[in-house]
Formats: sequence, structure tokens, C-alpha cells
Amino acid sequence: MKKVPISFEFAAPKTAEAFQGLSRAYQRLQRFPHEFISVTYGAGGSTRDGTKSTVLNLSAAGHRVAPHLSFGGDETATIAQLLKDYQAAGIRRLVALRGDRQSGLGTPKMVHAAELVRFIRAETGDWFHIEVAAYPEIHPESASVDSEIHFFKEKIEAGANSAITQYFFNPDAYFQFSDECQKAGIDVPIVPGIMPITNLAGIERFSAICGAELPRWLVKRLQNLGDDDSAIKDFGCDVVTNLCQRLIEGGAPALHFYTLNQSKPSARILENLGY
Ligand code: FAD
Repeated sequence: MKKVPISFEFAAPKTAEAFQGLSRAYQRLQRFPHEFISVTYGAGGSTRDGTKSTVLNLSAAGHRVAPHLSFGGDETATIAQLLKDYQAAGIRRLVALRGDRQSGLGTPKMVHAAELVRFIRAETGDWFHIEVAAYPEIHPESASVDSEIHFFKEKIEAGANSAITQYFFNPDAYFQFSDECQKAGIDVPIVPGIMPITNLAGIERFSAICGAELPRWLVKRLQNLGDDDSAIKDFGCDVVTNLCQRLIEGGAPALHFYTLNQSKPSARILENLGY
């Protein structure tokens, strides 16, 4: 089986204990050669300091780390300073996002990712490799496929180097989206985001928030396994391994694993794939 580069995503920890959990999970994943790890940025900038300290800690330990970043409710000066701090620490990659709304805070103005990409380029030139988000199943707020592609292209033209997708379980959605991007003249790598399946309630909750489609057959089969935790994990691992295989065979340039700060689910899939 052909191997493609991989990367891992971790959720920014909010407590020292959670940071220890993240570190343990990452330690167990280090045996899989990977390009980088990324650390999320809480909705509305709610983990700005936690993301920064996690990233600086991991970077100081010699790991290649890419912080996620959004304007959230921050002033541009705050984000400019954060970029300077990352530069000073030798960070070379960022994931630039609009970000999710912070629950309970109403609907503050959201700054689109393209604007953040332009800001990063204006402040720091070519220092950072900038990743942006892509949505093979179409972002829930997009009016149409055409507008999805249009605004995705705007992020690339603003200076993004590559993209990581929202997770999906239908590889055809990814292939279709990649073809449409190519036709629209978008030629950056579009890396599938891979979500391991370990339980039905969790994946239903995430998918409802981010608009990822859960195929009926998948839900029915997971329901059928009831509360047999180990059967669910085995089945979920097979489904996602097959998805990765199809993506690699179909030309995906790399895979980005949403670890949810757990090592085992991603590790099992990678072992199945021969990593
Ligand atoms: P944008 O690219 O700004 O797009 C958002 C929507 O607005 C799309 O529908 C787009 O078509 C539309 N749009 C864009 N520009 C315009 C315009 N000028 N006028 C009108 N409409 C426009 N969220 C977090 O809070 N923290 C994280 O760390 C985080 N990490 C993520 C990592 C990945 C790989 C992915 C795929 C998502 C991540 N998210 C994260 C979720 C992300 O913030 C949400 O999906 C958010 O709703 C959109 O972010 P975006 O950067 O794609 O936004």
C-alpha cells in the first residue's frame, strides 16, 4: 500500500491535566513519522493562551507544531503580537480559520479566513506555510457549491499554501470537490481530514455541529452494535481504514488525523494501513 505524509491534530488543552493527556497521546503517536501536529484554537479565541503555551512547549521540545488561529473577538494588535511570538519560537506553519462561534456569546462579527490569511501575509511575508479549511461536503453556511469554491479560492489567492478538509465518510465527496477545485484553477494540495469513529453519540454530536454527513448505513450499523464498545471500535476502525485506502488510491496528497487527543484510534488505522 502506497504511503502518503500524515499529520495529527490535537484539541488545545484547557488545564494542566489535559495538557498531560495530550502529551501522553502524542508520545504514543510519535512512532508514526509525521510532517507536523496542529493544535486547535478554541471558538472565539477562547483558548488563545492555552493554544500558545501548548504550541510553544511542544516546539521547544523539538516538535513541528502548527497552531490554529482565528481573529475571534481579538484586536488586530493582539493577533499581530501572537504571530511575532510564533515567529520568535521558530514556528513555520499555521492553520488560518474564521473560527466557530463561541456558544453563549450571541453572534459577534466573524472575520473570514481569507482576511486573516491576507493579514498574516501582510504582517509576516512568506514566513509561514498557511493551511486553510476546505469542505468537500460544503460548509453549512455556504449558499451553493459555486460560492463554496469561490470563497475557498479567495483564501488561496490571499496566500494560503494548502488546505485540510472537514472530515467526511464519503470519499466521492472529496474526489468531486478536488476535481471542481482543479477546474476552478485551485492547485494547492487539499488534504483529507480523517475522523476516527469510536462511538455513535460522539460522532453524531460533532457531525451535527460541523455539517459532516453521517451515512445512513453507517449509523444503522453502529446502532446495531448497541453498547458493545469493542465491536464499535473494531467496526469504526475498519470503516475509516477503508476510507483512507480509497483516498490514497485516488490520489489524496496526505492525511490529517483528528486525534481528539487520543492515540489508539488513529494508531490502529495507521497500523492497518501499514504505517
Ligand atoms: P471561512 O473560510 O471564512 O468560510 C466560512 C463560510 O463563509 C463559508 O460558508 C464560506 O463559503 C463563507 N464565506 C467566506 N468568505 C465569505 C465572504 N467574503 N462573504 C460571504 N461568505 C463568505 N474552528 C475553531 O474555532 N477552532 C479551530 O481550531 C478549528 N480548526 C479547524 C480545522 C480544520 C481543518 C477545519 C476544516 C475546521 C476547523 N474549525 C475550527 C472549524 C471552522 O472554524 C468552522 O468550520 C468555521 O465555521 C469556518 O471556518 P473557515 O476558516 O472555513 O471560514
